[in-house]
Amino acid sequence: MNKLISTSGFLFLFGFTSCQTKDAKIESKVEPTTTSTMSKTLQKSEEEWKKELTPEQYHVLREKGTERAGTGTFNNHFEKGFYTCAGCGTELFSNDQKFDSHCGWPSFDGELGGGDRIKKVKDFSYGMIRTEIVCAKCGGHLGHIFEDGPTASGQRYCVNSLSLGFRPAQPDSSSGKK
Ligand SMILES: [Zn+2]
Repeated sequence: MNKLISTSGFLFLFGFTSCQTKDAKIESKVEPTTTSTMSKTLQKSEEEWKKELTPEQYHVLREKGTERAGTGTFNNHFEKGFYTCAGCGTELFSNDQKFDSHCGWPSFDGELGGGDRIKKVKDFSYGMIRTEIVCAKCGGHLGHIFEDGPTASGQRYCVNSLSLGFRPAQPDSSSGKK
């Protein structure tokens, strides 16, 4: 009995002290890759991803799942701001690039950055030839890109809402003040 009490006391103390040190940001060590042109990649174990993501997000981002059409949070979402990777927070799309494709998934006609934030990978699954789009930083599955977009770019990034987060535009940063 005494042992039990002291053990739980120890656990309490441990929990307390670990809370205190939590402020110091724990960053997973990433070895600098010399061959890669990408700035930094984020590597986490599948266990870590399971802890951080909801089961639905994990299925889409890490197991290349697809959410049911028309069910996603951002399908009919047209606020001003930036759509981020749900895995690592990288800003991938802006509201200017979003259009209503009526396909049941958030759709964009371009991406932020110079093409280095989203990797395009040939996907031969389900007997189709498609191009998968993947977050370049964390490797999370986003969706697919098609060359049938209705806008000038001709591109349609078809993305799962579960793969995305949203950062609303700051009211003061919208006008490029100089
Ligand atoms: Zn990411």
